Amino acid sequence: MKPLSTQLGQSTESADPHVGSSIFEVIGETGHEEVVFCHNPDAGLKAIIAIHNTTLGPALGGLRMWPYKSEQEALDDVLRLSRGMTYKAAVAGLNLGGGKSVIIGDPTRDKSEALFRALGRFVDSLNGRYITAEDVGIDVNDMEYVFQETDNVVGVHQVHGGSGDPSPFTAFGTVQGIKASLEYKFGDKEVGKYSYAVQGVGHVGLELVKLLRKEGAKVFVTDINTESVNRCVEELGAEAVGLDDIYEVDADVFCPSALGGIVNLETIPNFKFKIVCGSANNQLADNDCGDELERRGIVYAPDYAVNAGGLMNVSIEFEGYNRERAMRMMRTIYYNVGQIFKIAEREGISTWKAADRVAQERIETIGKIKLPYMGARPHRFPGRNRNERN
Ligand code: NAD
Repeated sequence: MKPLSTQLGQSTESADPHVGSSIFEVIGETGHEEVVFCHNPDAGLKAIIAIHNTTLGPALGGLRMWPYKSEQEALDDVLRLSRGMTYKAAVAGLNLGGGKSVIIGDPTRDKSEALFRALGRFVDSLNGRYITAEDVGIDVNDMEYVFQETDNVVGVHQVHGGSGDPSPFTAFGTVQGIKASLEYKFGDKEVGKYSYAVQGVGHVGLELVKLLRKEGAKVFVTDINTESVNRCVEELGAEAVGLDDIYEVDADVFCPSALGGIVNLETIPNFKFKIVCGSANNQLADNDCGDELERRGIVYAPDYAVNAGGLMNVSIEFEGYNRERAMRMMRTIYYNVGQIFKIAEREGISTWKAADRVAQERIETIGKIKLPYMGARPHRFPGRNRNERN
């Protein structure tokens, strides 16, 4: 992926104030409102919170923990992910803005109570402009520590009145996106009739494989974690393939469910897929790759429209969580993705562009009747209690 940021290392060390402008140039280009660098050496915390746009409401987006090779890599990731959240909320019809946070660290080694509570205090300092949740490397138990320091967290455990892990809902929403894509490409939405290549069988991918197998579909899986792969093979009847072989599998639908940037000019020529529709964020290395899929007749279901199920689910915590409402809302993904395909066809544009257009138009239209969200009013989460850890 092309880096969004440049010269971060130089900027922080230079005495020349003009050199430091590169980060402002970057966020000027990406349209970010606020980027917060969070440092607590005692807790071992190095994190970045990016608030992209609060026109529609408070910025909501998950917390990712990843052993980034550099601070710049972490910054690029959080900027890209937070911008994606703005578009995701807009297309999903939610009154939320886009934000995201990343902790630089190894989730298998560096987690601690202090780390997550320190992060929680930074989130709290933003006075509700940013609300966090789980993302890659983070689970509901980590969120309990964050919740001890701030109310501005969703996806907390059901015992606290939250909605729990959003991943099964993201997987359910992804299936709604798959149905819309099948209908568009093949004229029917019988999930079980088609075959799937699922890259990454973590929280979302595993649930997706379960749903696909339940419909009787043929499913190929891969993951760097061989235990997860074995579980899919032994318990769910999926077929394992190598990490790089997934791009060449003869399956109808490619479901990226690991990390971003995997639909790129190196992988696309290997595709026999007819559809790309999965849960991962930022699947396209860049927009040209979306156009390349289009040229090859491969339907690309825009990632942020497809993977909005988890966001929709946690958004219901604002009014007091209700599972039935959440499931109803998630079925709208089928409609939203179908609409994007219709607009793309009607306007003669790629599907990624049609999705961006839907998001931008909603932000612009609703923005005219609202001011940016300044976190002046505390959020109410009826039925939640935060002072106990279970
Ligand atoms: P996760 O960390 O639980 O799972 C990711 C899986 O991908 C892991 O099992 C990991 O081993 C595997 N992986 C990493 N690199 C890989 C590689 N090169 N090849 C194959 N497998 C690899 O994360 P998750 O919560 O399941 O999220 C998966 C994707 O979906 C991410 O892109 C995330 O941003 C996106 N997403 C998640 C949610 C959610 O509700 N959790 C919501 C929206 C979007």
